[in-house]
Amino acid sequence: MQQHAGRVCGRLAPSPTGHIHLGNAWAFLLAWLSVRSRKGRLILRVEDIDPQRSKGEFTGTLLEDLRWFGLDWDEGPDIGGPAQPYLQSLRMACYEEALARLEAVDATYPCFCTRRELRHLASAPHVEDMGTPYPGTCRRLDGEKQAALFEAGRRAAVRLRCSGTTVSFVDGLQGEIRASLADCGGDFALRRSDGVISYQLAVTVDDALMGVTDVVRGRDILPSTPRQIVLQRLLGYATPVYRHIPLLLDNGGNRLAKRHQSLTLRKLRQEGVEARRVVGLLSHMAGLNPSEMSVSPQELLPRFAPENLPKHDQCVTEDNLRRLVP
Ligand code: GLU
Repeated sequence: MQQHAGRVCGRLAPSPTGHIHLGNAWAFLLAWLSVRSRKGRLILRVEDIDPQRSKGEFTGTLLEDLRWFGLDWDEGPDIGGPAQPYLQSLRMACYEEALARLEAVDATYPCFCTRRELRHLASAPHVEDMGTPYPGTCRRLDGEKQAALFEAGRRAAVRLRCSGTTVSFVDGLQGEIRASLADCGGDFALRRSDGVISYQLAVTVDDALMGVTDVVRGRDILPSTPRQIVLQRLLGYATPVYRHIPLLLDNGGNRLAKRHQSLTLRKLRQEGVEARRVVGLLSHMAGLNPSEMSVSPQELLPRFAPENLPKHDQCVTEDNLRRLVP
């Protein structure tokens, strides 16, 4: 496996689909600490590739909220940098170039399955969190059939031929992972039939072109990693070190998500909560702070090492939240 040499480089990669909530803040704080504790370079990249889910107005507010929270970065849409642009929506040419390279070596095929057909698939039993494996229907179409469908005006997604592949890698926190791509969604889409580039392709290209050596992100994204590693191998990119961190859960044991509107940094700030208190709570849950005592990300640096990242999901209770508000 190709490895990076030299200075550590990490990234914060928020999607502007809502305000930053406590769950995001937890992941960004741990990603920030794991890079800054090693004097690494940090990139802020806005993952606004999906026009249906991303909303322009959140891009500005999420940068503002992250700064308020006490995080900083060396490159990003607000300060520029050598790998710009830092908004995925402005990086289409990079993704198209990578896609063309994959097409040129016949690693892809057009997929004409309709949304309805794919929705039907979604109700089939599937491995939790992995997405419904694509059964490879269009993989078997010959050139003549493909040409006839294009002729008839049918639009096609582009899928990667990979379901026969198995990937092994060592996650810095989760240990050795071995996954068959057939179980991780099968031949996954690189570009949807409406032209939207997939998260998998965009993230893989960006991490490589931006020189990212270390990725710290929620364990909910772990099923995507084998797909990204397959792409790295085909495109000749190095594989970063991955650390998939545990999640922050709500009272009911569900992952904190953007729909928890009351738990956004913005809302807490409006209620008069200080950023240092939020960092105090999250760092306590991460085992980096002996109590929920207020602290800044900077002050946590001397006590942090990536090996000390938390191993278990943490639950935010009503009591925790009550203690935050002055
Ligand atoms: N943009 C993704 C998110 O907000 C993160 C993707 C990643 O870290 O690879 O969930």
